[in-house]
Amino acid sequence: MNVELLRRFSEAPGVAGFEYGVPALIKSELEGAVDRLWEDKFGNLYAEKGRGDKTLMMAAHTDEIGLIVKHVDDKGFIRFAKLGGIADHILLSQRVLVHGMRRRLPGVIGCKAFHVMKEDERRQLITYDKMFIDTGATKEQLESYGIKVGTPITFDRKLTELENGLLVGKAMDDRAGCYALVDALKRAAPKNRVVCVFTVQEEVGLRGATMSANAIRPDVGVAIDTTIAGDHPDIAEQEASIKIGKGPSIVVADGRRDSLGGGLISNPLVRGWMMEIAEKSGIRIQLEVLEGGTTDAAAIQLAQAGIPSAAISIPSRYVHSFSEVISKNDLEESIKLLVRLMEEKIPV
Ligand SMILES: [Zn+2]
Repeated sequence: MNVELLRRFSEAPGVAGFEYGVPALIKSELEGAVDRLWEDKFGNLYAEKGRGDKTLMMAAHTDEIGLIVKHVDDKGFIRFAKLGGIADHILLSQRVLVHGMRRRLPGVIGCKAFHVMKEDERRQLITYDKMFIDTGATKEQLESYGIKVGTPITFDRKLTELENGLLVGKAMDDRAGCYALVDALKRAAPKNRVVCVFTVQEEVGLRGATMSANAIRPDVGVAIDTTIAGDHPDIAEQEASIKIGKGPSIVVADGRRDSLGGGLISNPLVRGWMMEIAEKSGIRIQLEVLEGGTTDAAAIQLAQAGIPSAAISIPSRYVHSFSEVISKNDLEESIKLLVRLMEEKIPV
């Protein structure tokens, strides 16, 4: 695989609603490799390849979790809101990039120093509303750089290779999925009309997938995203049984914790089709019921009069942190499965 391309995908800034350069980066990779490329008014990027009576939509989201400027105080310290699900305990001391209209500034998330905290304060979780971003700039400087309420903020993290074919970087959710779709589109000779959609605003409620599925009206929808690998300390196998390096997961059901509301119960025909193709192609897969999250497939299934949908996920440790770990092997196996799906007759 092309680690340098994945690096560019991972390191590109693209908080939900401010995906900016990510669709453009994907577009430049796909030019000449597909039949048609276009964007809609919200920034969803569509890539079409192949012909047929049936349309297969595949989606990967371009946005990442991040922050947005909520308030700037008189000294230039920035208070922020979250775009997407981020746990407070991973925010402190993170290096960030504040994307002003005229200048991008590095910064750090700070809070009161440990030394001046009272005994009970030291034991408490510091919530994000007690944190702030320090860029070193004054309020006037921030204004001159075009940094104000509504400016997006991303995390400053480089992609790094770990041992045994693992990679760590920010926004693997879902740039790894974007990479997989791009690579699959380049390799496949589709038997269907395949429309891959690189969606916006997934992390804030599957918004891009909702719009694009209604625009495309596919016969079948497949999302490619990342999922929770639970093969590390302090998580029991029954809590998250997916393991890194053992191949992509096929989602049977996902959604909110305790109810699986708001998610996807994958269509049995589409799911069976994917499992059969994986088996005959010698692609190792894992089956998954995921509590506490979902993918673009949950939105695609509800478009129009209902679209049979399913999801494939790349196992990832530390999902929704800024150091998400994936395996090159899983990524490669996911690409192989996507290629095979593009090249097989769809089941409905
Ligand atoms: Zn995702």
